[in-house]
Amino acid sequence: MGFENFGTVSFTAEAKAADFMTHLEAGRVMATRCKKCGLSYFPPKADCPRCLSSDVDWFEIKGKGKLNTYTIVNYGPTGFENDAPYILALGEFDGGLQILARLSRDIEEKDIQVGMSLVLSPVKLPDNRIAYEFKKG
Ligand SMILES: [Zn+2]
Repeated sequence: MGFENFGTVSFTAEAKAADFMTHLEAGRVMATRCKKCGLSYFPPKADCPRCLSSDVDWFEIKGKGKLNTYTIVNYGPTGFENDAPYILALGEFDGGLQILARLSRDIEEKDIQVGMSLVLSPVKLPDNRIAYEFKKG
């Protein structure tokens, strides 16, 4: 299992991408929390950029968040040109954790409202890639 199966997000080099993918395949979307200063990160980071500690905990992103803002992407980045148009959304979850992900195509544009309830779910893409997206909460 490697990056080639992962569709929509690129990681910084220090992210524990393999662990993240293993969880995602099992149906869990995970983030990390720094044990020293308590900040949470998504996508997960193996080191805390704020206090530089490598002592991090993994936790599952559960429960409902709310939509803070969104944008319609008409031209996908290299490799994802055929995915556009899609809607990229910023959600806020427990503890103020900000998460950037695509909005599910199940949600029609006319139904999108800032403040609406969202859940973050793993999703299998048609070509067997695995990613995550926001669904209606
Ligand atoms: Zn920290």
